Amino acid sequence: MTDLKFTDLGLSKPLLDAVNELGFEAPSQIQALAIPKILSGKDIVGLSETGSGKTAAFTLPALELIDQELFRPQVLILSPTRELCVQVCEEVRKLGTKLPSMRATPVYGGAPIDRQIKGLRGAQMVVGTPGRLMDHLRRGTLRTDDLKLVILDEADRMLDMGFRDDMEEILSQIEGHRQTLFFSATMNKNVERLISKFGDAPEKVEVAKKTLTVDRIDQSYYEVRNRSKVEVLSRLLDMNAFRLAVVFCNTKRAVDEATEALLARGFTADRLHGDITQQMRERVINRFREGKVELLIATDVAARGLDIDEVDLVVNYDLPQDPEDYVHRIGRTGRAGRTGKAVSFVFGRDVYRLQNVERYTRHKIRREKVPSQEEVEG
Ligand code: ADP
Ligand code: MG
Repeated sequence: MTDLKFTDLGLSKPLLDAVNELGFEAPSQIQALAIPKILSGKDIVGLSETGSGKTAAFTLPALELIDQELFRPQVLILSPTRELCVQVCEEVRKLGTKLPSMRATPVYGGAPIDRQIKGLRGAQMVVGTPGRLMDHLRRGTLRTDDLKLVILDEADRMLDMGFRDDMEEILSQIEGHRQTLFFSATMNKNVERLISKFGDAPEKVEVAKKTLTVDRIDQSYYEVRNRSKVEVLSRLLDMNAFRLAVVFCNTKRAVDEATEALLARGFTADRLHGDITQQMRERVINRFREGKVELLIATDVAARGLDIDEVDLVVNYDLPQDPEDYVHRIGRTGRAGRTGKAVSFVFGRDVYRLQNVERYTRHKIRREKVPSQEEVEG
């Protein structure tokens, strides 16, 4: 833990006031460690778990470095998904609200490019997905001459999503006169390669995994056959008092089927996966955030990084292939110091995957008995 306060980090009054108004009492570990280093002009690699406050860790110093009188792109943030671009932009607006001017614009695929071209005029900070950023660079609608800071948010995920070529191309085009920050929840060979290629003697700022979010999450599993999943899920939902729940499936098709089945049983549910249009996704997320929909059924990519503090239940309708995905999924609950609950459906050979998860998280996942219909009605 750190005893540092926000006032110890070298931030100016407008930013401290904004942080205060947001109710952030103390910086998170990654914020306390990274902010002073970024302000000193160093390249850094910031590694910490999902939900640990990485967005503010780079946004606050970025806002500090911007010349308020210059209305050209000075900070570029690469982000893996449209949802995250929008979320980061919102955080930039909130944290920059006390500054005389702060113009940030999101730039992502699936939205009309003309509107984005207008948005880019006069923007000081640009948050974009690699594909669409490349598009703007090619068209000459994104000026890079005044960029001082480039930030890769969720670098691991961007690489996983196949953005390597675009990321490398973007970083090559703006090389030479800038500071680069690499933020990631995990480290692997691909991330390392990117850092060694584009970082300038970056300093690693790592927050140990022992504060893994899973500590605050009550984890259990149920043995359920595929054909019984809907029935068991609706029993569990009927029994567990919760406000917002996210249900993860491994495929789009499973998301569609589970959503239909839950709607048919009278739950308010909505879906989130790669085939849902951008406009629709934003609507779904907002309705969920506002509590108008109690269940969000999603694939990993669509829900990654979703920042909704009130999620109190995560269901692994299908167990993910990768233990890291398990951690990312259940990290949708137990955020910002709250407690949460995660339940997984497991059958047959899934047990081995569950054991992998237990080894990875160093946490035992409790086995529970499927409640009978009588117990539910009881
Ligand atoms: P990450 O990018 O590491 O997954 P986020 O930046 O999305 O995490 O932050 C997770 C949540 O914690 C957000 O709701 C954010 O507003 C909140 N948060 C960030 N920093 C602090 C802080 N110092 N104190 C309290 N809440 C914070
Ligand atoms: Mg993040």
